[in-house]
Amino acid sequence: MDDKQIYDMAVIGGGPGGYTAALYAARAGLRVVVLEKISAGGQMALAHWVDNYPGFEDGIDGFTLAEKMQKGAERFGVKTELAEVLSVEFGVIPRVIKSSEGIIYAKTVVLATGAGPAELGIPMEKELVGRGVSYCAACDGMFYKDRTVAVVGGGDSAVSDVLALARTSRKVIMIHRRDTLRAAKVYHDFLRKAENVEFCWNSIVTELLYEERLTGVTVKDVNTGEKRRIACDGLFISVGRKPASDLVQGQLKLDKRGYVVADESTCTDLPGVFAAGDVRTKALRQIVTAVADGAMAAHHAEAYLYGGG
Ligand code: NAP
Repeated sequence: MDDKQIYDMAVIGGGPGGYTAALYAARAGLRVVVLEKISAGGQMALAHWVDNYPGFEDGIDGFTLAEKMQKGAERFGVKTELAEVLSVEFGVIPRVIKSSEGIIYAKTVVLATGAGPAELGIPMEKELVGRGVSYCAACDGMFYKDRTVAVVGGGDSAVSDVLALARTSRKVIMIHRRDTLRAAKVYHDFLRKAENVEFCWNSIVTELLYEERLTGVTVKDVNTGEKRRIACDGLFISVGRKPASDLVQGQLKLDKRGYVVADESTCTDLPGVFAAGDVRTKALRQIVTAVADGAMAAHHAEAYLYGGG
């Protein structure tokens, strides 16, 4: 990585928000680098199928959509650096970004780091990751082919995980802390039709049972307090997201849940630094809202650099 050059814009995170900011900025003539840890797409790349991103009448898988977004931005000269950002210094100009591959200097920064899976916070949860506990059905589902798995959560992600796992696993037990799902109605019919899905309502997981690997869970009925054990080979935890904002703690204003405080303009409390996509405070975290953020971030970055807006 050439650490001498100063970019007009550094985008941290190559998801839909990040690559859209990069595309718009590059088309406006800015020199842009996208820093991405693993591969384009962020959480979107893990989605089996995306039906609610307009323009793809048959839907599209998340990984392919991510590649298309990356290539679309690179067509206008955006550079992608596969590097993990280790620390940032936003209080100086140019901003300094230290990564696993070297130092980047940039006049503006778009933080598009997204949000990762939330944890249950129960004993042995971290230790059993890779030995029965997973946060990603799309990544690990195949390890549980013809086995019994449980999924915790009642939102769109949990239901989408249940449906994906039901196609390969012998049995899927959905554990939810209430008796109604938060997930969109469109999913309910699919769930009813899935013959190998069982429900464990009004229940929370209190304990992970294991020998070498996970062997089951203890669940507690939230109404009666009664506990029971459920045998399973895998537990998929799908209870929402937490923002990937550790990097900017102390440098940007965060809300109490850790989201970067920014409105539709994507402007943070620091001029020239923008937050796009799931990492910022917003009502609806979707691909379409992330790409909208990307366009806004580029617009305001251009105004910051050259005036206007
Ligand atoms: P979510 O909508 O926040 O749902 C989280 C679920 O986990 C809720 O059912 C919640 O229960 C439960 N939960 C939270 N903390 C828990 C805990 N400590 N113990 C047990 N259960 C807990 O999160 P999400 O499903 O990850 O979705 C995030 C966003 O992405 C949403 O806007 C969603 O619409 C979107 N998304 C969309 C699609 C799609 O196909 N369009 C797919 C995936 C995600 P309560 O219901 O009781 O609060």
